[in-house]
Amino acid sequence: MSKTKISSMIMIEATSNPTPADKRKAMMENPGFGTTFSDHMVVVRYSEEKGWHDGRLMARQPLPLDPAASVLHYAQEIFEGMKAYRGKDDEILLFRPEENARRFRHSADVMAMKPVPEELFLEAVHKLVEIDRDWVPDAEGGSLYIRPFQIASQPFLGVKPAKEYLFVVIACSVGSYFKDVSKGVPIWVSENHVRAVPGGTGTAKCGGNYAASLTAQAEGYEHGCAQVVFLDALERRWIEELGGMNVFFVMNDKTLITPPLKGTILHGITRKSIIELARDKGYTVLEQPYSLDQWREDARSGKLAEAFACGTAAVITSISKVCDTHGDFEIGKDGANNPVANELRESLIDIQRGRVADPYGWVERV
Ligand SMILES: *Cc1c(COP(=O)(O)O)cnc(C)c1O
Repeated sequence: MSKTKISSMIMIEATSNPTPADKRKAMMENPGFGTTFSDHMVVVRYSEEKGWHDGRLMARQPLPLDPAASVLHYAQEIFEGMKAYRGKDDEILLFRPEENARRFRHSADVMAMKPVPEELFLEAVHKLVEIDRDWVPDAEGGSLYIRPFQIASQPFLGVKPAKEYLFVVIACSVGSYFKDVSKGVPIWVSENHVRAVPGGTGTAKCGGNYAASLTAQAEGYEHGCAQVVFLDALERRWIEELGGMNVFFVMNDKTLITPPLKGTILHGITRKSIIELARDKGYTVLEQPYSLDQWREDARSGKLAEAFACGTAAVITSISKVCDTHGDFEIGKDGANNPVANELRESLIDIQRGRVADPYGWVERV
């Protein structure tokens, strides 16, 4: 299947004032996460009469938006998160972009939005990365984080699916998501707040889910935790995922457990890739429910060796400690060095950065 070359829907406009090379290099020295934006963006419009039209690659700039645009009132909004990596010989690599294109369409369905055709999504991402390729860092751990998103732009205050949308792609140079992951991060178990309910929007990557996770996040911060893990909404018993990352439990018998995708958990592409990688390395991977009580018990008995969170932004991040109102528990023996998470992280990153052969066909050259 030819993944990329399609009839073009996106016009390249004369691009004014790209950041001068020396300034760009200074900005990229210490890019942080989500603040060092590239020079350009793609904008494509949707209307009922014209469908997707007026696709443009242009200088990055504020969006003209009517104050009645329905996204501002009723939150019809979805997004994706993906990365471009600089490989050997300065080649630029994308990781499974067609999976993001597919999930974006799924999110649109959940939010009653007009879906962006997958070819258009991929063309937009390719064009932006091509023109902003100098913004892809070559530093270890660095990448160009790409943020496609779609908003309801129709100016009206009625509660119904909009008839006009904007599809936009922006990008930023990023370093590591967490400052130091070698020892793992402590996470807070949210008992008062849930992220998603059966029949809700948990499988869509939408801003509303993130907005709803912020009070739990704030509670986590108060207890010294950078991240929150959510329990299921009905029994408040089963581990689901973090606010923006899926979760794996590593048993001491080469078995990995991850919660099943049963309608409330986001279908992570990193999660899916780790399942394949781990099976090929001889691990047994079970997609089955795992409770907080079990987690506590397995951590105490030593049956649980490690736990980690995974997602595009932070790749694989070990969990060092779990905190809730019933008392904290540590994972692994005295801050152990998480060999399984490290092995999987290195394998995944080696593929993403083109350092090893890619037997899965996951990597796409820009
Ligand atoms: C984006 C996201 C993930 C991770 O998905 P990846 O495709 O691996 O980046 C996990 N959970 C939630 C809620 C997310 O929004």
